[in-house]
Amino acid sequence: MIGADSFSSSYSEAREKFQEAVVAAGGGAESFKHPGSGPSGEELATDAAWFGPSEASRVLVLISGTHGVEGYCGSGAQIDWLRREEFKLLPADTGVLIIHAINPHGFAWTRRVNEDNVDVNRNWVDFSAPLPSNPGYVELAEILCPTEWTVEAQEATARDIATWQGSRGPRGAADFRQAVTGGQYTHPLGLFFGGSGPSWSRRTQTAIFQKYLARAKRVGVIDYHTGLGPCGYAERLTVFPSEGPEFKRASTWFGTAVTSTKSGTAASKDVTGDSIGGSAALLPHAEFTGIGFEVGTVPTPRVLQALRADAWLHAHGNPRSEQGRQLKAEIRAAFYCETDWWKGMVAGQSLLSCRQAIAGLALQTGV
Ligand SMILES: [Zn+2]
Repeated sequence: MIGADSFSSSYSEAREKFQEAVVAAGGGAESFKHPGSGPSGEELATDAAWFGPSEASRVLVLISGTHGVEGYCGSGAQIDWLRREEFKLLPADTGVLIIHAINPHGFAWTRRVNEDNVDVNRNWVDFSAPLPSNPGYVELAEILCPTEWTVEAQEATARDIATWQGSRGPRGAADFRQAVTGGQYTHPLGLFFGGSGPSWSRRTQTAIFQKYLARAKRVGVIDYHTGLGPCGYAERLTVFPSEGPEFKRASTWFGTAVTSTKSGTAASKDVTGDSIGGSAALLPHAEFTGIGFEVGTVPTPRVLQALRADAWLHAHGNPRSEQGRQLKAEIRAAFYCETDWWKGMVAGQSLLSCRQAIAGLALQTGV
């Protein structure tokens, strides 16, 4: 079945459905085993599958689970694409590489981050160079991630956040979001921590790209995310400035509603070490066109509160406790709307974006 049935209620179910769909499509998935295990002891792995001629010079790459729990969305979209047998419609010289659950630990443990509390979408920086600084985050670090998560602590820190924003004047709210979400490299137990070296997910994606995309001349990437923007709407966002060729190509492929984090039009703030930019850097030999496919869920304050609670839970609490289960349910709800209409919107918009990207790969526009 297609549509909402392509989505899953656990990482293991998603992996099984993906592998079944790949086999049914006549393909084979290659597994990249993660050293950790899931909360029930289940094996964790990133699975990659290729469709189309192996020598194809034009390739569309679909990546799910960069942000762990957001993999529910991307996995469902990928499985739906397979179940619809879209691979039968590929033009000549065109391949599709599907990367399922690039952050399987976060997916299985219902976390946006990976096994080391690292945000994989802030991890693609040059760790041999001075790391980006984020003075705003340093100011907010202890307010965002207190050592206790009682009602009193939440109320007190909410007041502190309001005070911090108020001290910045009219730009307080925007400055707050930039400081919190832009990425930081100083607080390993904090939010949006970019890590201290290349993560397992980054190394695995690098290996997959080197193996499958070495010959590619034109590459499109769709990286599936959730948690920002209007509920059910899939914003197609780029991390490139709107004057540049990468943005122009993305707009040609995906339409005029494409946004840019660099130009301030996206639901996401400009971030450091993002995966789209990291993917582009892995492909200096190819023309690169990549977007984040960002599907809205619940209002942003609820998403942030869920992330703060989850950071506290893994730094100071017990994920297996009753409180842990409650907080896990909340973070899951913040990134995955388990209704048929939401899943249907994801599947429909993803199908359109995949067809647009495959058609875009064949364009000879020179943009
Ligand atoms: Zn995300």
